[in-house]
Amino acid sequence: MSALPVAGDPAAPTAEDRAERQLLDACFLGPYGENDGLLEKLVVEFLRDHVYWRRNFHPEDPPAIPTGAATLPGYRDFEARMRRELHQLSAALKKSVPFHSPRYLGHMVSDLLLPGLVAQILALPYNPNNVSDDAAPVTVDMEVQVGLQLARMLGYPDDPARADCAFGHLTSGGTVANYQALRLALALKAFPVALRAAGVPELPAVAGGARDDHWRGDDWSAFNLGPRAGIELLVRWQAWLATLDRDARRHWRARVQAQRIEQLGLAGFFTRHLQLRVPVVLAPITAHYSWSKGLKLLGLGRDQLQLLPERGMRLDTDALEASLAECARQRQPVLLAVAVLGTTEYGTIDPVDAVVDARERWQAQGLGFGVHVDAAWGGYLATLFRNADGSLRPLQDIRREYRQFPQPEVHAAFAALGRSDSITVDPHKLGYLPYGAGAFVCRDHRAMALLAEDADYVFHTAAEADYLARYRHLGRYIPEGSKAGAAAAAVYVTHKVLPLDHAHFGRLPRQTVLAAEAFHLRAQRFATEVAGLAQALVPFAPDSNLVCLALNPAGNTEVARANAFVRTLHDELRCDPAQPLQLKQFFGSVTTLRPEALGAAETQRLLAAIGLDPATLDRGQVDGDDRLLILRHTLMNPYLVDHENGISYIDLYFEHLTRRVRALLAS
Ligand SMILES: *Cc1c(COP(=O)(O)O)cnc(C)c1O
Repeated sequence: MSALPVAGDPAAPTAEDRAERQLLDACFLGPYGENDGLLEKLVVEFLRDHVYWRRNFHPEDPPAIPTGAATLPGYRDFEARMRRELHQLSAALKKSVPFHSPRYLGHMVSDLLLPGLVAQILALPYNPNNVSDDAAPVTVDMEVQVGLQLARMLGYPDDPARADCAFGHLTSGGTVANYQALRLALALKAFPVALRAAGVPELPAVAGGARDDHWRGDDWSAFNLGPRAGIELLVRWQAWLATLDRDARRHWRARVQAQRIEQLGLAGFFTRHLQLRVPVVLAPITAHYSWSKGLKLLGLGRDQLQLLPERGMRLDTDALEASLAECARQRQPVLLAVAVLGTTEYGTIDPVDAVVDARERWQAQGLGFGVHVDAAWGGYLATLFRNADGSLRPLQDIRREYRQFPQPEVHAAFAALGRSDSITVDPHKLGYLPYGAGAFVCRDHRAMALLAEDADYVFHTAAEADYLARYRHLGRYIPEGSKAGAAAAAVYVTHKVLPLDHAHFGRLPRQTVLAAEAFHLRAQRFATEVAGLAQALVPFAPDSNLVCLALNPAGNTEVARANAFVRTLHDELRCDPAQPLQLKQFFGSVTTLRPEALGAAETQRLLAAIGLDPATLDRGQVDGDDRLLILRHTLMNPYLVDHENGISYIDLYFEHLTRRVRALLAS
């Protein structure tokens, strides 16, 4: 097999490349709107279908709007106003960011997958509300199925017949999914303490899990059972309740409810348990700001978010270990340890395997906590690691398809996903679906009972015990109330058309990883091309499909001046509503390298590599000069290399960048 299968050489695609491309040809509307005919046909077809559905509800009901209405003045006046406003909207939207274009290398967004786009347009006029099956008899089940599809991709149990099957639901985005992770972790952590406080007698073991009643010891051990034992305890409690008569059941349920953190609030709960401190969340310094929002929203407060340093651009596991040791020593409870699978800024992959290992070690020593993986960005990369039967692909098999991807550490991180407790993944990022589609998935659905809004978390009837039936009233479990069933339909249909394994959906992220590898190589060539004018460097090998570029004018040693230079370049690469869109050659974005994230040694090495003096950090006039500004490129567009016309937009981008660097620096 040649070294660069797809993205490297647009001029000489192999037969294999062509076959692979053809499968992608019908996936999107396309940069040029190539598939406009297909999209139009589908939309019109299903719109007509919707109209027939309306008419066939009660065909005997006559039309309520008279046939000649369209000629009447009131109607025409309304139509004219509507048209005027719609035309204005349509005109205004021409200033939108051209996410569909292979010249867009900015943020985490690209073209939309046709199956999802059409499913959403098709479902909109039915207006299903996924708050419950009363308002969405069809799409609510699709949402629960999406949870199972994602669970399988991530390595969680996905068979609803299994007692410990995973569960997932959609959210407006990764932010709310991360918040849901915090809510669930807190519910699970505090529940054993509530059982103890309510004086629940010893619970008989249920099949498969006779454990010692660690939770009965003291509040600290009850608060530190950890998610698995917490879920087991919940199941035993539910089984015990079911053996009681109705009055006793009511009595015990009310007693426990009165002790739950959801009932008492943080203030009530922690004043009753003065020995317990408010728990902290440990997350890498690269964590998305939704974590800070989540802690504020939950009332835990930002102070409870402990940010850990990185090493080699990934979560520093020694720092995690030191933090956990300190927590254990101080009797400081930990709510969650967060690993990021595809950081927002750099696309780097944290060692999920090491985080779950650390959790198991510390749990055995009495410090229990949950592990959440924030895979809002990188979640769909898991398709690259999955066979159609759900099994994990060996590292060697995957490696054959790329130059460097995946690093063994990256493979180990994806292989360990199934050992985490919950995961955030955004279909509206690498799932190429319209906004309003994030997802939260937890490993064992039984924990969700603790989030139910009505305290009646015991399911008596066979129908309620049925997995699908239970989650039809989604609104009981999710942070939102009413929400778009059309979004669920879009995700579901897309996953059916492109199953979440390497041979189907995986073709898409494969293109993006190959593009990132080609981009990395091309960046190295760019560095030699501009060597006399500027020093350029890809500061770290990309873990996935984001590639950064550090730049410094030749001879300059000041961080502030390098930042000003990159800022000027970025000003030309960013969205500017005051300018006609067509003036823009390319769209890119920026991020920063912070010494507190990189560590002193790594910062020194990087700055020195492009001729900067680390002592000049924070000497500039601008606020951001305590860090290095770098260009950031998200390589998500599947058409970055146009085999049809032998064009590489990656080449074009670097040619453009070379011209800009010359124009700005050649005197
Ligand atoms: C984008 C992102 C989020 C937030 O997701 P939204 O969908 O924007 O709410 C959270 N975490 C990571 C790692 C992300 O990349």
